[in-house]
This record gives sequence, structure tokens and C-alpha cells, in this order.
Amino acid sequence: MPDLYAVFGNPIAHSKSPYIHTAFALETGEDLRYEARLAPLADFAETARQFFAAGGKGCNITVPFKEEAFRLADDLTPRAREAGAVNTLKAEAGRLLGDNTDGAGLLADIERNLAFTVAGRRVLLLGAGGAARGALPALLLRQTACVVIANRTAERAVALAEIFHTTEHSVAGVGFADLGDSFDLIINATAASLTQEALPLPAGVFAPDCLAYDMMYGKGETPFLAQARAAGAKIRAHGLGMLIEQAAEAFFFWRGKRPRTDLLRQEMLLENPV
Ligand code: NDP
Repeated sequence: MPDLYAVFGNPIAHSKSPYIHTAFALETGEDLRYEARLAPLADFAETARQFFAAGGKGCNITVPFKEEAFRLADDLTPRAREAGAVNTLKAEAGRLLGDNTDGAGLLADIERNLAFTVAGRRVLLLGAGGAARGALPALLLRQTACVVIANRTAERAVALAEIFHTTEHSVAGVGFADLGDSFDLIINATAASLTQEALPLPAGVFAPDCLAYDMMYGKGETPFLAQARAAGAKIRAHGLGMLIEQAAEAFFFWRGKRPRTDLLRQEMLLENPV
């Protein structure tokens, strides 16, 4: 029997993770099966426990369960502890080890694939959920000029900024209505694009040569990237590259083998152009 892995989320039908991990397994010669599973909104922890009790080796966790997965893990990698969110779990000696590969995946896509330097930039991070928490530690390692977190529920942005703000790293939290300045890198880590909703952003937040990055990906232009284009942002990307890169990190965490990502990214971008 191949080892069993899965991704849990709600909704989950749109997920490309099964396709990506199946490609990684083929390329690296690992014997595994990877499935997308819908977890009930009120019962993620029990669904995950049953999966591991039935022999599951590891899973990814997506919207909206990353903070619950953090609480479910018995042990955490340092980057998962810092993020306060878990997107990857593995069973090890009867315990669940939680990791967060989102930040590493995001930075690999922005810096390596898109060749955009993050150091010294003014960064606007939209959203204060699990994806934003995963991105923050990796962004701050790059010595950004500043990070502003803006969220629909402003208090969550303020609370998150308070966790990460230090004398070394300037991090502030605001509501969308308080945004005024322009930014070099704007990352949409909200779930708004999932429901095709645009965010109430002033056009001035997009500096002309900024990178507008939507963690969401899908068929067609996302509402956030349409906003960015209308505001004159020339460099725009969706989260397919991040998805592939964070998956490669998770695969390494589970199997100790690092799959190639470049060819798969090229192939999948043909189907999902920005
Ligand atoms: P969470 O459920 O943890 O957080 C959702 C965030 O989105 C919150 O900040 C929430 O604000 C905000 N939000 C939700 N709906 C709206 C809306 N209609 N308008 C404005 N803000 C909204 O989700 P995650 O952080 O896990 O994921 C966020 C997004 O990132 C998803 O689209 C997900 O697909 C994507 N993602 C992509 C990855 C990739 O590899 N490409 C990896 C990880 C995530 P509030 O606090 O006010 O509720």
C-alpha cells in the first residue's frame, strides 16, 4: 500500500495540491497517494485525528484551519511556532509534528522565480489569517524597510503586528480605511479572491513598479490583480508558484527528498496564466 497523504480545507474542490504532490512522487520515485479532503468547518481536529488514526502519514492544511492545526500539533518546527499557524503535519513516533512552509514557498516564488528583491522594500500584507502569519517571519528575515498589515477586521491586524514588531523590524497593523501610503510589494493573503470579492484599497497603494502578488490562484484574473492592473501595477503574479514551492517544502519535510519545481511551474502556468 502506498503511504497516504491529504490536504484538508473547506472549500477544497479547487485544490491543485493532489496534482502537484502526485507529480513530485513520480519525479522522485516515492510511493505515495495524495488526496483532497473536505473537513467540516466545526470539526477539523477530529477529522485530522481520524485520518492519522487510520494510518495517514501526513497532511497539508488550508483555509480556514491553519490556526486550528497549530493547536492540534504535539510538536512544532521553529518557523511554525513563530508563525502561530501550521500548514503541514506529519505523524512521527505517535506524535504530530507541525510545520509552516508558506513563508518559504512565498519567498522562493517572489525571489527565485520572479527575481524580485524583497530586502529594503516597503511591504503591504493584506490579511491577518494563517497565510499572513506564515508569510511574516520569512518576510522579516529579508530586512524589509517596513511591513504594514491591513485587514478587514482591523483589530486582528493590530494584534498580529504587535507580535512581530520589534526595534529591528517595523510592523504596523491597520484597517483598509487607514491605508494611504504606496508600497513596493503588496501581498494579498486574504481569502477575498476565493469568493471573487475585491478589497476596498485606495489605488495609491500600488507604487508604479511594485509587485502585486495574490496568494490566491485560479482560472482567470483575480479581483485583486485586476485592481492592481487598473491602478497601473506592472508586475503582477498569482499564488500558483507559491503553491508549488510550499508543496515542495512540505514534500521534503515528509519524505526527505526535494523535488524539482521549475518544469511543473512552467507547465501549470500555461494552464493558469496571470
Ligand atoms: P484564513 O481563513 O486563516 O484567513 C482569511 C483572511 O482573509 C482573514 O484575514 C480575513 O479577514 C480575510 N478575508 C476573508 N474574506 C474576506 C473578504 N471578503 N474581504 C476581506 N478580507 C477577507 O485563510 P488563510 O490565511 O489560510 O488563506 C488566505 C488566502 O491565501 C486564501 O485565498 C488561500 O487560498 C491563500 N493561500 C495560498 C497559498 C498558496 O500557496 N498560494 C498558501 C496559503 C494560502 P478577517 O480577519 O476580517 O476575517
